[in-house]
Order: sequence, then C-alpha cells, then structure tokens
Amino acid sequence: MHSSDKFHDECGVVAIFAHPEAEKLAYLGLHALQHRGQESAGIVSSDGLTLRQHKAMGLVADIFTEDVLSRLRGSLAIGHTRYSTAGDSALLNAQPILVQSNKGAIAVAHNGNLVNAHTIRQRLESQGSIFQTNSDTEVIVHLIALSREQTLPDAMADALRRVEGAFSLVIMSADRIFAARDPRGFRPLAMGRIRATEGHTRDTIVFASETCAFDLIGAAYERDVKPGELVVVEAGEITSRFYSTSTAQSSCIFEHVYFSRPDSVVFGRAVQTSRENLGRQLALEAPVEADLVVPVPDSGVTAAVGYSAGSGIPFRFGLIRNHYVGRTFIEPSQSVRDFGVKLKLNPVRSLLEGKRVVLIDDSIVRGTTSRKIVRLIRGAGATQVHMRISCPPTISPCYYGVDTPSKKLIAANKSVEEIREYIGADSLAYLSLDGMKKACGEGAKTSYCTACYTGNYPTEIIDVEEILPAATRR
Ligand code: SF4
Repeated sequence: MHSSDKFHDECGVVAIFAHPEAEKLAYLGLHALQHRGQESAGIVSSDGLTLRQHKAMGLVADIFTEDVLSRLRGSLAIGHTRYSTAGDSALLNAQPILVQSNKGAIAVAHNGNLVNAHTIRQRLESQGSIFQTNSDTEVIVHLIALSREQTLPDAMADALRRVEGAFSLVIMSADRIFAARDPRGFRPLAMGRIRATEGHTRDTIVFASETCAFDLIGAAYERDVKPGELVVVEAGEITSRFYSTSTAQSSCIFEHVYFSRPDSVVFGRAVQTSRENLGRQLALEAPVEADLVVPVPDSGVTAAVGYSAGSGIPFRFGLIRNHYVGRTFIEPSQSVRDFGVKLKLNPVRSLLEGKRVVLIDDSIVRGTTSRKIVRLIRGAGATQVHMRISCPPTISPCYYGVDTPSKKLIAANKSVEEIREYIGADSLAYLSLDGMKKACGEGAKTSYCTACYTGNYPTEIIDVEEILPAATRR
C-alpha cells in the first residue's frame, strides 16, 4: 500500500533502569515497537557517569549492530523509534535528544505532539535560546534547563506544566530515569519490572510505549504511568508525583482501533479484546448476507475475527500479504494496474471465486487503496464485495502525534454513499461512535479522545501553525 494512504503513528519509547546490558534491552524493546515508527531510531545509555548516544535513519535491527551496541554499554538506557514524513526525515530530528544543561546532561525521548510548542519556542528564541532541531521536544528540554527550580524532578514538573498537548516522555540523567505522561494521557506509557536474579542485586525497572516490548525482554507489566504523573527511578527507589491533576483523561482511541499491537496492553486494556469487540459490534450494527469474512491484512485481521464470530459467517484469509516489500519497488515499463497494492496483497482465487465477500478494514484514508483492493477481490471472481470499517469515518486531523493527511481524508469531503461509489463496493458501512467506544471499554478504565471522528478536540489551544508543518511532527 502506498504509505500516504495509511495513518502513521507517532513514535515508540523505551527506558531501562539498572541492568548490566541496558543498551541491549533498549534495543530489543525498540525492535518490538518498530511498528510505531520506521524512519529513525536512537539509544542513549549511561554507565552512571557518562551518557553515550547513537542515532541513525532506518530500522532498529539495521542501525544497532553488535559493534554499535558494544559502544553503548551501560546500566541505564532510553530509546526512541520515529516516524516522520519524507521532508522531515533528517537525522537532526531523530531522538533521543541529548543535551548538556545547567542541571547536567539529560536525554529525552518523546511520543506525542505538543500543541503550543510554536508559541513557547518563539518566546524562548526572543529571549536568546538557541534551538538545534525543529522538533517540539526540544522546547521541553529548554524549559527544563531554564526552570528556576533547583532539583531536576522539580524542574521537569515545572516544564511539563507549561506545555500543552500529547506527551509520553522518558528522560534520563547519568543516574536516573524519569517517565511522564501529559495530563490527558493521550499516548500510552507502561511500567514493568524484571526481577533480580542471581548476580543482580536489584530489580530492573522498565518503561515502554506498549507492553509487547516487555514480553521480549522478560519484564512483567506492573501499571501505566498515569496521566499527569512524573515517575522518578533512582538507586533502587521509585517515587511518583502528580505535576497536574485537574484535567479529564482523553486517551487516543485509535491506539486500540489501529496503532498498537494486538498483543499489547494499552491504557490498562488488552488491545486484542478491543479489536475483536470492534468486529463483533460491527457485525451487530452492519450485518449483511455473505459467504466469507475476509480481512485486509494485517491490521484488519482481529476485527474480522470478531465480525465472523458475531455474524456466524466463516473467516478466511482471502488476501495474502507479502511481508518483504520495501519502500520502493521497480515497476516494469509496461505498467501493471494497481501495481503498488498487488506487490503487497494477492487475492486467493480458489477461496473468492463465486463468493459474496465481507471485507474488513480498520480505516479508509484517501480511499485509493480500498478502491484497488475491492477491484482485486472482484478480479479474483467474488460476486459481491461488502466493505465494513471497524471505526467511524475519520473526518478531522489529529494534533496529538498521529500523521493525518488532513486535506486528503475522503470522509471529510464525501458521504458514506459517495465513498462506497468511489471504492466500487456493493455496500459500505462504518462502526458508530458509540459502538467504537463501547467496544474499547469507554468509562471502564479509560475515557478516550475521539477527535478525529468528531472534530471535537479535548485541548483548548491548538497552535495549528506549529502542528501542520511536517517538520514538527513526531
Ligand atoms: S484525534 Fe484521533 S488519532 Fe488523534 S489522539 Fe484523538 S483519537 Fe487519537
């Protein structure tokens, strides 16, 4: 699929405190979070005295060779994996950001997007601050450095009170790890523990955007960093403070619909459960007579399992995905129709021929990919194609860390019937807003942001100039 016809997350962060191979655990954690960003990755480690960093463009497994990791040997580490649009891919903006400040060396890794960074940056620059990157994360670093508070945790709390928007942060000094979430808890951040074994005197404390990172490094999930909380880990002690308390939670529901891995626990809830519920709810709300339920792999698979269970229509892998497709591929000069989609997805003719198919996906962005997939399925002999989407139409851009091609959102400009006509399906239905919230357990442990489906944003200030240029996204 063409990359601009999908939503892009954001970033993944990981932090490791007190492990003899912290850099390797950070590397493995980033590998498990690779789906959250594939443009660049970085690790900063500390041996207790000195911070060392390595950042590069590309995938985690390619960047961190044995040789690179041996130079990062440390007992503390934080890591970051990043997505950005093409013009914004500069290594300069890769994270973690490592700076020397009047409060010592600190490294920061950020998932989310600040909505008032532009205003703060202009103010700081007019007062003489010099910025090295065009990333909004650097605003946080400057605010920490300029804070009049005497201790690092106090300076962080002071800085975090001044920024608005989405941030799940891991921050490291030479001998401490800090983890914080914005008061609305837009982005996830989980805390886990590896119990001390023979030879290790103390437990290892870990943080990650998703718990799938814990599974790979043998850590047990303990709890989420709470909205508005700053956790400090130092010398065997974990302390917590709430730098902000008075805001209603609005965690990103799209993490459950689409971004997070189904094997993760996000906002205290198994993503698998939500995603299967979304499919079941969709079967209730938008039933259709058909022979097969077919997912658009991989992201539509779990919702399709739910739709099949809810409707009683058999689930089949009618589209096979090729997992080895790089970013660009050489096309024969005699151009092949729907080449980009065909590279990734191939229909199984023996399953689809003569069948009425319910096709399940988790979003329609521009509609161009859906149109090609519907055409592929018909081309393989399906007699009917009924498209079902496991969330409501996406009508508004996200200002909180998700890359939304706002001008190209098909649902912002067309009715459901017009979209159906455009993609060439026999019928098209989206899940309702209430159905989506119910499927994701709204109110049980979490209240969700649903702004990209409603246009009602939970933050008051949105400094659009800051957010829309690709250079400031994370
Ligand atoms: S606007 Fe949409 S994608 Fe962005 S945080 Fe809210 S629910 Fe998530």
